[in-house]
Amino acid sequence: MILAAALAALAWLWQRLRAERSRCAQLQRELAHATRFALAGQLGAGVLTEIAQPLAAILGKSATAELLLAQEAINRNELQRLLAELNQEGERAGAMAQRLVALLARRDAGPEAFDVHEMVADAARVLQAEAAARRIELILQPCALVPQVTWDRLQVQQVVLQLLSNAMDAMADTPAAMRRVVVSTRDAGALIEILVSDRGHGFGGRHTDALFQPWYTTKANGLGLGLPVARTIVEAHGGGIEARRRPGGGAVFAVKLPRQGAMRGRSLQEDRAVGVPLAAL
Ligand code: ADP
Repeated sequence: MILAAALAALAWLWQRLRAERSRCAQLQRELAHATRFALAGQLGAGVLTEIAQPLAAILGKSATAELLLAQEAINRNELQRLLAELNQEGERAGAMAQRLVALLARRDAGPEAFDVHEMVADAARVLQAEAAARRIELILQPCALVPQVTWDRLQVQQVVLQLLSNAMDAMADTPAAMRRVVVSTRDAGALIEILVSDRGHGFGGRHTDALFQPWYTTKANGLGLGLPVARTIVEAHGGGIEARRRPGGGAVFAVKLPRQGAMRGRSLQEDRAVGVPLAAL
């Protein structure tokens, strides 16, 4: 009798725990989505420029095409060139719009297989116009030998975007010649590591653990949720994230995530001379 009651109580507790856990996971997803929106808002102007510029070019080029068509002797070569350019501009605007839509999508995609370098390059492209406006160079160092991973792409991309956005904010007072964010990857045994390094104001005397506390912010318009949400996402993938002081000034954020297929490590070349400027990709 007592055993039956105890078992029933245990079963009830077990069910409550499961319900709480799934509610907690749901809340975490909602929070990640909300901070993605906040992040997109912060990226704002630069991202829209990436869409507005090709659209303006399309308008200009289609007006030229109309003029060409109105001429008596139609220059087919010139028209063909214009059409090809129109196509390119349309694709550029469309690709950027797709990246934005993907960023803002409310979907639980779950884990999928993809190339980490493509995901990082995609994230950097979203920020490219904003970086250019702030005269910041984005450098990619894809050092991981086997870049295939199986993660929730959207969520991990949100982490990379957050770290890039923070790195750019931290360099507001950095001399222009040093305004450079380096994103690199490297194999770390069964894990893959993504490092985002900047030459910003760094952390002063602050303990780096404080940065990951919810609502901790030193920015006038900061929310203080970017890093805690990033940590939640990374830990949900079985990984870890930490902030380090960068020798010579600035910060390095290191994200380590498990991926399938362990690789032998390869040393990271953090020197700015090594790597591919995003604009060249
Ligand atoms: P928010 O960006 O809204 O302030 P975050 O959680 O993303 O929220 O960041 C918390 C704080 O961590 C920032 O306000 C800033 O003080 C510090 N921080 C984050 N990234 C960097 C960085 N790259 N360099 C220096 N400080 C940083």
